[in-house]
Amino acid sequence: IPKGKTVALIGPSGAGKTTLADIILGLLPPVSGVVRMDDKNIYENLRSWRQKLGYIPQSIYLSDDTIRNNVAFGIYEAQIDDNAIWKALEKAQLKEFVQGLENGLDTYVGDRGVRLSGGQRQRIGIARSLILNPELIICDEPVSALDVSIQAQILNLLADVKKENGISYLFISHNMSVVRYVSDKIAVMYLGNIVEYATTEELFSRPLHPYTQALLSVVPDANPHARKEKIRLKGEIPSPMDIPDGCPFHTRCPYATVDCKHIVPKMHSINEEHSVCCLKYE
Ligand code: SF4
Repeated sequence: IPKGKTVALIGPSGAGKTTLADIILGLLPPVSGVVRMDDKNIYENLRSWRQKLGYIPQSIYLSDDTIRNNVAFGIYEAQIDDNAIWKALEKAQLKEFVQGLENGLDTYVGDRGVRLSGGQRQRIGIARSLILNPELIICDEPVSALDVSIQAQILNLLADVKKENGISYLFISHNMSVVRYVSDKIAVMYLGNIVEYATTEELFSRPLHPYTQALLSVVPDANPHARKEKIRLKGEIPSPMDIPDGCPFHTRCPYATVDCKHIVPKMHSINEEHSVCCLKYE
């Protein structure tokens, strides 16, 4: 994930997107492979690398505690003072709101105090993820629980934070319109494998993997006169506990051949901006 860029990770439920996020965050050790930041394996010094990683989940759960403790939640080793919390709240565009509350940072949230809206809770989550000045933030469906008008505000806020602080994002989402709006590059995942990786423009204008083609064929078009042939995939996604031999997509692929049942395709570079994992292109 290049510095200051957003890479979106898309794929069906059960593809392994959140598992990958957990591995990058150091919550789940990889069975194989390496997670590198600045070309170093983060698992060799997880404690120090964790400070460079932020996380924004789909729904922010706040404890029935003060705003201060909710923003600094989970950080026991770093020195967090009120200045750092105000700074994070300012970046999350929540400083004035919190200042306006009678007791400021000491105001209780939840049943004991102020009730926050969905958007405000997400902003607290953003402030929480920014508190240690991370280099990479993993956003796991950060707006899917919000209504559409609030979604746009939060997406614009994330874009501003990225621009001002040079942060990179790994952005996990099901919503292709959101992905198109926020990302510089997109990785498509299917049954634990990245099957296509391209710049956003390339992927939307020239999807190559049959799964990506099917996925994009059902995205509604803003132009009511545009006619797209919808590709409907047959069958269910196989269990990740029992991944098919050969190409993991062959059980549902409209172009599958006999080779696809036995040969595992490798990632193949089409050009500098586009790679795909499919025997059709090898
Ligand atoms: Fe389909 Fe074969 Fe390509 Fe897999 S390798 S996506 S089954 S054509």
